[in-house]
Amino acid sequence: MEALDYRGFERDVTALVDALVQASHCVVLTGAGASTDSGIPDFRSPGTGLWERLDPMETMSVHAFWQDPGRFYRLASETWLPPLLGARPNTVHYVLAGLEAAGLVKAVITQNIDGLHQKAGSRRVLEVHGHVRSARCTRCGRHYDLTALVQRLRQAGIGPYCTCGGPIKPGIVLFGDPMPPAFEDAVSEAARADLMVVVGSSLTVDPANSLPALAQQVIVNNLQPTWVDGRAVLRLPYPASRVWHAVADRLRALSIL
Ligand SMILES: [Zn+2]
Repeated sequence: MEALDYRGFERDVTALVDALVQASHCVVLTGAGASTDSGIPDFRSPGTGLWERLDPMETMSVHAFWQDPGRFYRLASETWLPPLLGARPNTVHYVLAGLEAAGLVKAVITQNIDGLHQKAGSRRVLEVHGHVRSARCTRCGRHYDLTALVQRLRQAGIGPYCTCGGPIKPGIVLFGDPMPPAFEDAVSEAARADLMVVVGSSLTVDPANSLPALAQQVIVNNLQPTWVDGRAVLRLPYPASRVWHAVADRLRALSIL
């Protein structure tokens, strides 16, 4: 990877802090880059991507789930699921939760399924791709804790079936699933936003990547370029944890945080 250029860092953070303080309805949109410091690999990063070794349609699709629920969980337990279940929030999550408590952020829309915004204390979190906290029987609707379910499947070697016999589906949006109700709320929040800050998302996944188009102003904090950069009022091409750590320092100095 090329060395990052930090020459504009201080100036860019100042501009971000100014925008956060001036906005009346700031909404943050987070992606994989917000969780990399929590040890969750960015499945779509070039070079390191899990999907270069695995076919997403094999591991994370509705089709794969219905074809063989047992195999679906086995593959998930061997690949993308374990890092998510044990993860802890990092600076990015804690600072965003602090900004919400201080009234500077009204909502966090996240493409991540790790639940780390809630663990850090964020209250208005719209999880447009679902989450790994629970799973639900596709027949009777009974809820299950996903961590406990995965442990039970491993230890007992049984299938992911409810007491009623129905397959139990994790609470995440699989490829081929419809968008959850949280997406409608995300659209409303984006349309209300006078400022949307994109954090750690390359904006490649449909339809969540269209949300910044609805906001009045957009700021992008992502290492790679995104489609919305051309209309962004500010771009911060640095790691999210560096940026939000610096933002928190500035706001504390201003006695805002
Ligand atoms: Zn059931």
